[in-house]
Amino acid sequence: MEEAGTVAGGPAAIMSLEKKVFDLKNLIEIGMSLSSTLEFENLVESILYSCIGQMFVERVAIILQVDIDQHNYYIHMSKGYDEGFDKDDVVLSEKSPLIAFFEKNPMPQHLGDLMKNEMFLEDLALFNRLQPELFVPMVSKQTINGLLILGSKLTEGDFSSDDHDFLRNLARFAAIAVENSRLYQMATVDRMTRLYVHHFFLERLEEEMKRSQRYKTPLSLIMCDIDHFKNFNDTYGHQHGDIILRETGALLRREIRKMDIPARYGGEEFAVVLPETNLANALSVASRLRRAMEEWGFPGPEEPLHVTISIGVAQYDPKRDKGSKEIIRRADLALYKSKKSGRNRVAAYR
Ligand code: GH3
Ligand code: MG
Ligand code: MG
Repeated sequence: MEEAGTVAGGPAAIMSLEKKVFDLKNLIEIGMSLSSTLEFENLVESILYSCIGQMFVERVAIILQVDIDQHNYYIHMSKGYDEGFDKDDVVLSEKSPLIAFFEKNPMPQHLGDLMKNEMFLEDLALFNRLQPELFVPMVSKQTINGLLILGSKLTEGDFSSDDHDFLRNLARFAAIAVENSRLYQMATVDRMTRLYVHHFFLERLEEEMKRSQRYKTPLSLIMCDIDHFKNFNDTYGHQHGDIILRETGALLRREIRKMDIPARYGGEEFAVVLPETNLANALSVASRLRRAMEEWGFPGPEEPLHVTISIGVAQYDPKRDKGSKEIIRRADLALYKSKKSGRNRVAAYR
């Protein structure tokens, strides 16, 4: 008869069970943090650390297809390597044979086994610098949205079937995190311009107003509107108009700081929230935007085309502004002033 508290199989079996419990606890923790999609980067990081900690590997990397409009997988994060990687150091096409294979066989695969298939050699060569040992596909809605790539084990022996189970669950969570992040982008980012959509802009503006009030830092708002855009559409066609909108979005994103919040306010109207920026500084940002736009050669049927914008700028006034309406109205009035005084200009509401 067994004594209470012992398990058939002795100490080794107990250790294996303890390891399983530990692994499961780790998975539950990651599962719980899935609910906060905003912490995507932290989540990916903890997934990589789980690989290292639970699987006893030296190195791990993750390649992802995370942006809604990207057709490749890029290296997103890595841990345990002597060197850092740029996003473009590993670029795998979504049409690659390797991805097609994982779509049909969504299971962890050893490098050695994959190498037996000549079709994969070109794809696998992309990963040389990562010194991969095991590839774990991340599956969501029958498609692969990333791969976990583990280096060799520090301990003796190969990946066990328990390891494979753990990694499949972990990869499932990683896939859900990526899916959540994509859904979040779809809800907040305008597909054409890649700028934030109107409702998200309002939400962010109000958040920044609260922050400005609490920390007594200045906050400004820029509103822009493309000049004579109706004319442009009538002359070159709506499709060409769309190209202008797309490129204007890219130009705005290039010209502002990371902390600024650029949005497509409406059809051919844009807004930029500038935290920690007073009116004078916002005016110089606006002038830079106006000039960059004026100088940019947009693709045209023959020659590059030139398009201009008019801009209005206003600063948040915590004493007077109750909600976002007031500051938006002032920036709009300033924009109207720019339009009335001849377009392709910047005006401030004072
Ligand atoms: P103003 O200099 O006074 O701003 O003149 P405007 O012609 O730009 O102003 P108006 O507001 O009369 O016209 C805006 C035009 O923007 C009308 C509409 O056809 C165009 N527009 C709005 N959204 C889109 C879009 O998504 N794609 C394209 N191609 N055009 C759009
Ligand atoms: Mg307009
Ligand atoms: Mg316009």
